[in-house]
Amino acid sequence: MDRVRDKVAIVTGAARGMGAAAARVLHGEGATVFLTDVLDDLGCSMVNDLGDGAHYRHLDVRAEKEWHQVVDAVLETSGHLDILVNNAGIRIAGSTDTMSTEDYLKVVSVNQVGTFLGMRSVAPAMRAGGGGSIINTASSMAGLHGRPDSVAYTATKWAIRGMTRSAALDLATFGIRVNVVHPGLIDTPMTPGGVPLTGSDDPLRPLIDTIPAGRLGTPDEVARLVVFLASDDASYCNGAEFTVDGGWAT
Ligand code: NAD
Repeated sequence: MDRVRDKVAIVTGAARGMGAAAARVLHGEGATVFLTDVLDDLGCSMVNDLGDGAHYRHLDVRAEKEWHQVVDAVLETSGHLDILVNNAGIRIAGSTDTMSTEDYLKVVSVNQVGTFLGMRSVAPAMRAGGGGSIINTASSMAGLHGRPDSVAYTATKWAIRGMTRSAALDLATFGIRVNVVHPGLIDTPMTPGGVPLTGSDDPLRPLIDTIPAGRLGTPDEVARLVVFLASDDASYCNGAEFTVDGGWAT
């Protein structure tokens, strides 16, 4: 129950879905956690549920200024920063022949620029504290393969893989590890069709049938991998990619 005891974490997109699960499991394993999101009401109620050691701050990951404010608040409150879970993301459906430039750039600005700003914003604080762990979020289906009707989303998830490798090389010398997780199809509000998706008439049934595990993953199953990468158990894991997808990409 204390794999990240005394560590301080920022989780983006933590008001719901996988970010909320990562925040809850990190908190349960002893970390002080700063949940951040643009869904302030939901984020605050998560923090109320978690209790001591959980804080909420508004953070639109596209906004450099807000990143600085959050890092300053973390350092002021806790004195150090050890973990960043770059989880916030959006998916706008769009095919290569029809997607608008505006929608394409919206996805890039949250998923790709947001992930970069996160790494850049926390690096000085982690460096000053002697090291840290950054966990970026790509995707098994859209980051290891191509997806139809998802040109922007797929592009950003592949970009996050490249960014992770570059950042791992840039930051290793400061004791900062940077890794990327590839969730498969996970039961969250982002997954079309809502939850639970178990009946034979589910719109996602053909996709679920391609998953060797035969079901969607849960946010907690992803969170447990995130906590491993955040913890000192992963001290020699850097620049690496980890799938948590029920065997889909195998
Ligand atoms: P979700 O929609 O439930 O949660 C995403 C969170 O990000 C939300 O709380 C949302 O408010 C927040 N967010 C959106 N734009 C933001 C912004 N500009 N600034 C800050 N926060 C913002 O989705 P999820 O399924 O929990 O997705 C979490 C991550 O996992 C995303 O990066 C997503 O691309 C990735 N992912 C999801 C799946 C899946 O099957 N659900 C699979 C692979 C990867």
